[in-house]
Amino acid sequence: MAETPPPKKEKSAPQRAMEKLGLLRDIDLALHLPLRYEDETRLTPIAALRDGTTAQVEGTVRDCEVQFRPRRQLVVTLFDDSADLVLRFLHFYPSHQNALAAGARVRVRGEARGGFFGLEMVHPTFKVVAGDTPLARALTPVYPASAQLPQAYLRKAVASGLQRADLSPLLPPQVEPVGLPTLRESLLFLHQPPPNVSLATLEDHSHPAWQRLKFEELLAQQLSQLQAKRERELQRAPAFELRPRGLQDQLLAALPFALTAAQRRVGDEIAHDLQRAVPMHRLLQGDVGSGKTVVAALAAAIAIQAGWQCALMAPTEILAEQHLRKLVGWLEPLGITVAWLTGSRKGKGRKQMLERVASGEAALVVGTHAVIQDQVEFANLGLAIIDEQHRFGVQQRLALRKKLQAQALEPHTLMMSATPIPRTLAMTLFADLDISTIDELPPGRTPIVTKLFSDGKRAAVVARIRDEVAQGRQVYWVCPLIEESENLDLQNATETHQHLCDALAGQTVGLLHGRMPAAEKAAVMALFTAGQMTVLVSTTVIEVGVDVPNASLMVIEHAERFGLSQLHQLRGRVGRGAVASVCVLLYATPLSPTAKERLKAMMETNDGFEIARRDLEIRGPGEFMGARQSGSALLRFADLATDGELVQAARSAATVLLDTYPDVALRHVARWLGGRAEYLKA
Ligand code: ADP
Ligand code: MG
Repeated sequence: MAETPPPKKEKSAPQRAMEKLGLLRDIDLALHLPLRYEDETRLTPIAALRDGTTAQVEGTVRDCEVQFRPRRQLVVTLFDDSADLVLRFLHFYPSHQNALAAGARVRVRGEARGGFFGLEMVHPTFKVVAGDTPLARALTPVYPASAQLPQAYLRKAVASGLQRADLSPLLPPQVEPVGLPTLRESLLFLHQPPPNVSLATLEDHSHPAWQRLKFEELLAQQLSQLQAKRERELQRAPAFELRPRGLQDQLLAALPFALTAAQRRVGDEIAHDLQRAVPMHRLLQGDVGSGKTVVAALAAAIAIQAGWQCALMAPTEILAEQHLRKLVGWLEPLGITVAWLTGSRKGKGRKQMLERVASGEAALVVGTHAVIQDQVEFANLGLAIIDEQHRFGVQQRLALRKKLQAQALEPHTLMMSATPIPRTLAMTLFADLDISTIDELPPGRTPIVTKLFSDGKRAAVVARIRDEVAQGRQVYWVCPLIEESENLDLQNATETHQHLCDALAGQTVGLLHGRMPAAEKAAVMALFTAGQMTVLVSTTVIEVGVDVPNASLMVIEHAERFGLSQLHQLRGRVGRGAVASVCVLLYATPLSPTAKERLKAMMETNDGFEIARRDLEIRGPGEFMGARQSGSALLRFADLATDGELVQAARSAATVLLDTYPDVALRHVARWLGGRAEYLKA
């Protein structure tokens, strides 16, 4: 006999809400942890209630009446052996009156507050009880819920998911962390903690049960990242041969300076990768001004010497142009043809460039994201260098990846960033990257002095500018980006520009903002670079990459509106020559607590790594770098600012699993990430 299929049921609103939260499988429900707990395991005598604390009491209703002053409300008097308590309901139904009729025995939970007639509870939860109704045996979990997903529904769903989920231990003993409860024990404990447990250790997530969850979560994340890295190692890339006295050596010999030890070290790391037939996937990080560009040029020289093309991309046209100028200066004398591709380059010039790229005549292609557009075809791209990669949008990054995967051999990729990644973040969200770090500035730089001025002291700042330009130095004045309104933003910069023009008669004061046509921007930048313009007022377009060693004063207006990394980047625009440089942070009050922390960090340190670490502390990893936002959002339990040791443990466990227990690795990732594992590789 054929069975009739069960009728298709419409999904209820709570079911749909659960799906939206990703609560699909039993294990997802089991891993949906309470935000906090309510203690219904004990009763507090009414006389022992304290003002402002939440408690549960049980008593008999003495009196229940509707009062009309000051407004209509239900007022119930409850008593136990110790004292009386007033319950007050401003919204109520006849059912309230029925349940709370005189003589009823009720259990009430709420916050006690000092009222006119002693302590009272406003809108407590209550239930009618028989004399022997048992108390809850565990703390009551409170889950993140919503109007579509009521607490009671969610509690039931989680409890049954927890019961059905497969929580059997997966990990072999040698990767088991010492002294932590099992996953099953941890989850049972966290969903239903016994009475008398320290709520503090549950709430600050330091309890061993929490440690277990964080460890397993980090392990899943490490596994998927290491897996991605190993997959990449199976791909093929061109292996470049290092030729003595080749382009690389010629470039080194022609440079007007000697490389720092750090530049030599990272250069060797990159050269080593480029000689392998496996695509390089390396991040070159170094503080602003640490000299990453020349390292990139050396890598390009190796690729070009081996007969391959190199592309260098930067997120803005100004930045790309700075690179272009440097690279052309260094590489064209060696006989290398450089092509320049940006969005603003149109028509015949563009067509010619495209042809040179396609024929292979242009060995080096520099530009913005225009380099990765569809029409651009390379003869043989062997190395892609991406500056400030995290500033490219998601779409651009996807397009880039597609472009890079278009040929039989993968090109090598080198990403560059002036925002160093704190160690724990590097080990988690960026575990599939190799990282090279320039941890030394070129010699002869004088540390930048940072000063804080309130907005009222503008006149003093302008006087300072006068001194500086009188000595032949140049000055940046940066105005903030006002998110809500580009117009306001512009107005602010324009007004400041006008004001400075008036105050500094006889000086050339320039203005640079995002709405200007590219050619105009380039013209202003060229004047400033050549020293023909002494003061440059600008919105944040100058944030990265601008290199004018004679600039010795940076004024940042409304510094309180900038992020910490951004402030540090801006500050790095000065202090590039031998003269002592100053960064003035102008701020308007009142300062938010985080703004205060950011300005304090700026005053206290010049070290990009320390700044990055503080930034991570202040902002959390979610916002830290756009590049891996999806990845960090998936870390629900672990806190990268504090869980460094667990990251370490998870990292070594992941290596052992992948090497020795690949099937366990797969099952662990499936349990924790389900279909989301791919995200972590983006
Ligand atoms: P960033 O790492 O911020 O991109 P750049 O590559 O723009 O830094 O370098 C900053 C400045 O330092 C440039 O003018 C560059 O030519 C110069 N520079 C780089 N390396 C050295 C070095 N080893 N000695 C002296 N100056 C250097
Ligand atoms: Mg740079």
